[in-house]
Amino acid sequence: MPPSIDPKSVKVNITTGDGVDIEWKDNHRSHYSFVFLRDACPCALCDDEREKTKREPGEPAKLKPGALPMFKEKAKPISAEGVGKYAIKFNWNDGHELGIYSWQYLRDICPCEECNS
Ligand SMILES: [Zn+2]
Ligand SMILES: [Zn+2]
Repeated sequence: MPPSIDPKSVKVNITTGDGVDIEWKDNHRSHYSFVFLRDACPCALCDDEREKTKREPGEPAKLKPGALPMFKEKAKPISAEGVGKYAIKFNWNDGHELGIYSWQYLRDICPCEECNS
């Protein structure tokens, strides 16, 4: 059976900063931290950047050799909204809001051990 891409419930814990919890119709549960989701942003811009730096969705950006780590506020959405029935989008605290996270995409990048073994 292919993994379900229909969420049974979706919780976006903006106030607690706890990330997103999705329970799928096949009873699988996924938890995503906001930082992970920001680094996995599926928009063309971020996709392009990941392609160039060979970064996996959800993997933090690598520092260029010799570059000093710059202070970056931890990624967190200011708001989140559903996009039709198939996706969710976030308005991030760094002003970025282009990414549309489809359920299919979120299931694909589920960071749990089971999905990554
Ligand atoms: Zn993006
Ligand atoms: Zn999983």
